[in-house]
Amino acid sequence: MTFFSRAVGWSLPLIPRPLVRFAAAPYVAGDEPADALARTASLNEQGLAATLALLGEEVDSRGLAAEGTALYVDLVDQLADRGLDCNVSVKLTLLGLKIERELCRNHLALLVERAAERGNFVRIDMEDHTCTTATLDLYRDVLAESRARRAGAGSNGSGAGGDAVGVVLQAYLHRTLADIAALPERANVRLCKGIYVEPPSVAITDYHKVRRNFLASLEALFDRGAYVGIATHDDYLLRESAAMIEHRGLGKDGYEFQMLLGVTEERRDRLARAGRRVRIYVPYGRQWYAYSTRRLRENPSIAGHVARAFFLRLLRGGGRG
Ligand SMILES: Cc1cc2nc3c(=O)[nH]c(=O)nc-3n(C[C@H](O)[C@H](O)[C@H](O)COP(=O)(O)OP(=O)(O)OC[C@H]3O[C@@H](n4cnc5c(N)ncnc54)[C@H](O)[C@@H]3O)c2cc1C
Repeated sequence: MTFFSRAVGWSLPLIPRPLVRFAAAPYVAGDEPADALARTASLNEQGLAATLALLGEEVDSRGLAAEGTALYVDLVDQLADRGLDCNVSVKLTLLGLKIERELCRNHLALLVERAAERGNFVRIDMEDHTCTTATLDLYRDVLAESRARRAGAGSNGSGAGGDAVGVVLQAYLHRTLADIAALPERANVRLCKGIYVEPPSVAITDYHKVRRNFLASLEALFDRGAYVGIATHDDYLLRESAAMIEHRGLGKDGYEFQMLLGVTEERRDRLARAGRRVRIYVPYGRQWYAYSTRRLRENPSIAGHVARAFFLRLLRGGGRG
C-alpha cells in the first residue's frame, strides 16, 4: 500500500460528492435496474457473462431488508425475461443478517427458490469476518433445502454446477482451507483475496502469503470437485490459475474467471479471446456513494486506483467514456 493510496483513503471525506461519483463512474453501472440491465446486455454482446449486485448493505430495518429482497427477486425475473447471461450477487446484511438470522434465512431461501424456478443462480458475497460463520451456515442450510426441493421435483437444479446458490471464500482468512474442507459436495464457490481490512488475528496481511493461500485454496477447491469462480485481476494469479487448469485438464464446466466492472479490461478481454468464460461483477443502485466511499476507505489501495483513474480522466479531458 503506497503513501499515495493511504493519503487518498484518509482524505476521502473531504472529496466532494460529485468528484467521488465521477471517479467511481467506471465501477458502477448506474442508479437504476435499467442501467444495470443495459450494461449487462452490452457485456453479453462482448461475449462476457455478468453478475448484478444491488448496492446497499448492513440494513437496520425489517422493511429495508424485505424491500432489498423484493428488488432482487424482481431482478431475477427481469434477467430471465430478457434471456441475459447474468446471475445475481447478494450481501446477506442487505437481506437482514444483522437484524435477525432467521429473517435473513427466509429472505435468502425465497430468492434462491425464485432463481431456481427461473433457471438462474444466486451468489452470496462474503462480507467482513464477523459475518463469515453465519454466511457459510446459511449457505449450507439454504443449499440443502434447495437441493432437496429440486430432487423432489425431479430437476437437476440450475446455474453453473447445477445448484441455484453459491458462496464466496476469501484467500486472506486463516480459516479458509478449513472452510473448504467443510464445504458440501459439488459446491459453487467464488474465490477472491478479500477486500475488508481485517486484523492479523483472522487474516493474512502479507501480500505474497495471500497469493500463496489463494493458490492453495484453488487447488483444495478443485480437489473437492467444486465449481470455482476465480475472482482476481492479479496477473500472477491469473497465469498460475490458468496453468493449474491446464495441468488438471479441467473443462469449462469446472471454473470461470470473474472481474469487477471497469477494472483491468485488457486482462478480461485477453481471457475471453483465449476462450475462457469470464463473468463481470456489475454493481448498481442509489447507494453508490456509501458503497464507494466505504470500499475506498476499507481498502486504500483501491482508493489509489480510483484516484489515478480520476486524474487520468482529467488529463484525457473527462467524460464518462
Ligand atoms: C468478481 C469479484 C467479486 C468479488 N467479491 C468479493 C466478495 O464477495 N468479498 C470480498 O471480500 N471481496 C470480493 N472481491 C474483491 C477481492 O477480494 C479483492 O479485494 C479485489 O479483487 C482485488 O484483489 P486482486 O486479486 O484483483 O489483486 P490486487 O493485487 O488487489 O490487484 C491486482 C491488480 O489489478 C488491478 N486492480 C485491482 N483493483 C483495481 C481497481 N479497483 N481499479 C483499477 N485496477 C485495479 C491493479 O492493476 C492491481 O495491480 C471481489 C472481486 C471480484 C473480482
